Amino acid sequence: MTARAKRDETDSTEAMAASPAARRVQLFESLPGTPSRRFSSLLRALPYPAAVLRQVADAVEIIGTNEEFARFDEDLDGTLMPLDRRPSRHFNWRERAGAMFESRRTSDRFEIEFQGRLGARVFSCSLTWVEGDDGQDDMLLLTATDRTSERKAESTLRKELLTDSLTSLPNRIGFVEEIEGLVETRKDTLGKTSYAIIGLDLIRFSRINESLGAMAGDELIITVARRVKSVLRAGDVLARIGGNEFAIFAHVGNGLSEVLQIAERVRKAFESPIRLSTYLINVEVALGCALASDEDEDVENLLRQAQAAVKRAKKSGTLEVYRAHVLREALKRFTVENRLREAIENGALNMVFQPLINLQTGAVKGFEALARWEEPILGTVPPSEFIPVAEESGLIVPLGRWAMCETAQTLADWDRRNRHPLPIMMNVNLSPVQMARDNVPRAVEEALRYAGIDGSRFTIELTESALIADPDKTRQLLGALQAMNVTVAMDDFGTGFSNLASLQSLPIDVLKIDRSFVTDMIGDEDKIALIRAIVSLAGALGMQTTAEGIEKREMADALAALGCHYGQGYFFARPLPPLEAYRYWLDRSEATMI
Ligand code: C2E
Ligand code: MG
Ligand code: MG
Repeated sequence: MTARAKRDETDSTEAMAASPAARRVQLFESLPGTPSRRFSSLLRALPYPAAVLRQVADAVEIIGTNEEFARFDEDLDGTLMPLDRRPSRHFNWRERAGAMFESRRTSDRFEIEFQGRLGARVFSCSLTWVEGDDGQDDMLLLTATDRTSERKAESTLRKELLTDSLTSLPNRIGFVEEIEGLVETRKDTLGKTSYAIIGLDLIRFSRINESLGAMAGDELIITVARRVKSVLRAGDVLARIGGNEFAIFAHVGNGLSEVLQIAERVRKAFESPIRLSTYLINVEVALGCALASDEDEDVENLLRQAQAAVKRAKKSGTLEVYRAHVLREALKRFTVENRLREAIENGALNMVFQPLINLQTGAVKGFEALARWEEPILGTVPPSEFIPVAEESGLIVPLGRWAMCETAQTLADWDRRNRHPLPIMMNVNLSPVQMARDNVPRAVEEALRYAGIDGSRFTIELTESALIADPDKTRQLLGALQAMNVTVAMDDFGTGFSNLASLQSLPIDVLKIDRSFVTDMIGDEDKIALIRAIVSLAGALGMQTTAEGIEKREMADALAALGCHYGQGYFFARPLPPLEAYRYWLDRSEATMI
């Protein structure tokens, strides 16, 4: 039987009519083995709730209480749970007393926070040993001091410290604290959270403040806060984190696209001007955001990142997103660059060859040579990653020279295997950076000479950007290549900005229609019209056309019908290692001969 049940049982009927407090005191005095009057007068003398406890079997038994304690315990009794469910706050004094009887520690202090009948209550409790009648330290004195009003004052003060008095929104500290709490609870329930902080600055706020006065400035801030708040969702949090700076916290399941939606709504909120007395003020805002998806993302840090993005947005005029990956990418590039340098030095790169097919006859016209890099640690690094690194670091010059030599050597090797020169051409890509930095005609000439290959079997693929950078140099280079009988193709045609005049005046032989026109061309009249236009333009300029990215037979057929000369793509073959490419040519030439 618990102590409380026992106590209730002993509750005499004569006391039933009395108040609960009075009942307890009477109960104390009527208990068998009551302590001396010393205790009861001590308890009565104490101005705050106090009780003397002892342990009977495993239960904690009340020996005596004062009236204040009776009221306190009565109030506590009606509580179902502690106020904030924080497990660290024990609201069960019996448990604490029981533990102290067990451990025999000298004293214990703890706080009880609960929802009493009159609202939230906070009591600071202490347990100390008191000497029993027989001189044994076997009883505990429990006292509870009411700290409710102090805590209330503290929390009001705290609220003030965390709130912006003008808008009643959280201020910077309040915002960070609230978000930390929100992230923590979300993490508990979902395991992972994904959220964003959107920073918002009013542009030219100080000018309004100066010309209209601080009162008008305050009014403007209040209106801005109201407008922003009105377009936010229920769970979003708005804060004023500085004079003219606001921040929005938003849970974003769909990452950036959701942020863009919020930003758009906020921007729309300022489409109409704000009226301040007789003035109509057009408010412009700069928006910047930082996205977090890591559980351990620091809120302060994220807020700083959002502010950095806002700073950029002030210049760009659009929503800016803080890219946390910038540094990581820079580091990765650094590693890639170092490893690429080693790979070039050690001859660890490979060339693969993708067939170029005559769309009218099906014969192999040649192959495009494409660089490949298998890195032991980084794995397969695609050209779209390592070519830009090579271009930025200048490594493209040795890489490009190596690619030309390797391609010419491969063709010479195939010729030897075939005991006859193959009737095909090799296409090599030339970066505009190499064009600017290297003596390209010399590099091509050396590659051809060492391999014993004629210039007429080589095609150099240029990009449109190469034509724009230095037209005179380009003209010289193309002239020199033409003199060596080297064919020139314009790669990825249609994606750049080459003008018709330069196309016409330069010795370009082939236009390679960019993959973006070919992908999804089937059923897309606009794309087909564009391809038709490029083919007829090429015809008018005396050039041939090659279509890139042919992945399906229908595409090859449609392109052939449009008059496109050559085609390249996964439908025919993926880029192949040298010997496989050679075999592909063998098989295909036998097949087309039949
Ligand atoms: P590019 O010169 O336009 O090469 C064609 C790219 O399209 C190749 O990508 C090829 O694998 C890919 N491709 C071919 N057919 C299809 C298809 O049917 N579907 C799809 N989805 N893709 C197809 P890759 O090998 O990844 O090369 C990418 C780019 O990197 C090349 O574009 C070229 O600009 C550059 N690159 C590659 N090797 C070299 C090189 O040795 N030197 C230089 N300067 N650039 C190179
Ligand atoms: Mg190419
Ligand atoms: Mg291309």
